[in-house]
Amino acid sequence: MACNKEDWAENDEIKIFREYLRIPSVHPNVNYEPCVGFLKRQAANLNLPIAIYYPVDDQNPVVVITWKGSQPELPAIMLNSHMDVVAVTEKYWTHPPFGADIDDEGRIFARGTQDMKSVGMQYLAAIRVLKQNGIHLKRTIHVIYTPDEETGGYRGMAKFVKTHDFAALNVGFSLDEGIASSDEVFPIFYGERYVWAILIKCPGTSGHASLFHKNTAMEKIQFLMEKFLNFRKTEEQRLKNNPTFTAGDVTTVNITTINGGIQQNVVPPEVKMSVDIRMAVDIDWKQFEQNIFEWCKQAGEGVEVEFIQKLQRIEPTKLDANNMYWMTFKKVLVDDLKFKIKPQIFPGATDSRHLREVDIPVIGFSPMNHTPVLLHEHDEFIKASTYLDGIEIYKKLLIEIANL
Ligand code: ZN
Repeated sequence: MACNKEDWAENDEIKIFREYLRIPSVHPNVNYEPCVGFLKRQAANLNLPIAIYYPVDDQNPVVVITWKGSQPELPAIMLNSHMDVVAVTEKYWTHPPFGADIDDEGRIFARGTQDMKSVGMQYLAAIRVLKQNGIHLKRTIHVIYTPDEETGGYRGMAKFVKTHDFAALNVGFSLDEGIASSDEVFPIFYGERYVWAILIKCPGTSGHASLFHKNTAMEKIQFLMEKFLNFRKTEEQRLKNNPTFTAGDVTTVNITTINGGIQQNVVPPEVKMSVDIRMAVDIDWKQFEQNIFEWCKQAGEGVEVEFIQKLQRIEPTKLDANNMYWMTFKKVLVDDLKFKIKPQIFPGATDSRHLREVDIPVIGFSPMNHTPVLLHEHDEFIKASTYLDGIEIYKKLLIEIANL
């Protein structure tokens, strides 16, 4: 059993993974060409066909590696991951963020180790083992690598799902990213909260700061801050009071910017406030929207509200007996592998929502338990052993799901 860093470094799967991690496909202005070249080599090594699509422009490739099933007429299984990673602040890292260093504990450090180059390579590693064992699955598997997930997927998956090329893949079910968990339980994601971002403009009487003016912008802002922060408090309390809840079950509200004023001794003619809202899937959004408009009206004269972002609620993937993919997924993880899982709503947004929007059932799952949650964090890492264990899990999942 490999146990020191030299042994880990010699492992063929770890070598491939580290090579992928060393490609700085980092925002902003990601250059995906090195990823595409790398994936072409991976496909060639696996003797699998690869297709590159450009649904938006030639800067944003969508890469699809396909393993054809013995019954290709059946709906295919998609294994989704994104190539891009979020920016790094290098001075906070104790290892170079694109170095893929391994330390004495077998921890591999790099941006993307958790989110989500690990999963992207584990898919291919699982296929490699299956092929080496002479196993051939019924359903076709498409392993797909998207650009631009970290800025919303609008130059990637959002467009791709609406193309004929995507329709031709005949996808029946997709796996996508999850999040690490610090304990033994694997979080499983079947839906996502949706983002609303609003900008509120409060005009008011301006004038000398030594007087009590009527109808001031700051009083309106104060009123609105109270409304939003009281709502925030209620939701925070709801999360605290329900031990089974996760962050995805409640609506978060955060006032993120407040701007206004022209000079220390002048009462400001206008103050603006922006609010970030992550909507729980079960919130009555029409009522909530009405409340926002009502609060703005009550705040005083001339208050304007503008939606900077207003995503629509997308139906979560149903986890019931009618969803054979889910039933099989659960059987493999819970019955066969004896893992503990916790189905939940993803607190942020991923490419899964674009797939769910075109009615494809999606489960978000990254096989990383006993791992600190470090996505978008400094010193992001995964243990080599966790990475290799994940390949085994995918191997078992693919055998069952792609043979349905
Ligand atoms: Zn991600």
